[in-house]
Amino acid sequence: MAASSPQDSSTPALRIGHGYDLHRLEPADAGGRPLVIGGIRLEHDRGPVARSDGDVLLHAVTDAVLGALALPDIGELFPDTDEANEARDSADFLTEAVRLAADRGYRPVNLDATVILERPRLKPVKAEIRANLARLLGMPLDAVNVKGKTHERVDAVGEGRAVEAHAVILMQRPELRP
Ligand code: MG
Repeated sequence: MAASSPQDSSTPALRIGHGYDLHRLEPADAGGRPLVIGGIRLEHDRGPVARSDGDVLLHAVTDAVLGALALPDIGELFPDTDEANEARDSADFLTEAVRLAADRGYRPVNLDATVILERPRLKPVKAEIRANLARLLGMPLDAVNVKGKTHERVDAVGEGRAVEAHAVILMQRPELRP
């Protein structure tokens, strides 16, 4: 839409999206894949059970982008029953979500995400994860935030049996006024 086009409520300048994901963590001999979070490999004795690479953070961010545009979610676009998604790099999912948003004129403004896992600690790789997310989303580094938390040793996440991520993203159509 051109900048001079009339603006109505069906074309808001800003849209917010939320994404959430969880993966069970298992040792490799029980089907756990290598642990990858935000596209960065972490050394651990267990990893996510998933059709794709099981990247919990990229899945949450992908769903946040899709959710902001009220598009079908990651499970609908990339079913885990589809063999094409076997061990698939989850960066593909996020890249496709960003492309679908761009087709509709929206680009990401800022991302705030939280990863919850008991171990290993996220801190040593947090900067790498941020940089990778900024690259995948086409955003400056200071528009991307990633927080790491434990689950205080309670419930499945706290017992190291699962990893969880939440993401909130703001999307903008630059030519429209908020
Ligand atoms: Mg997932």
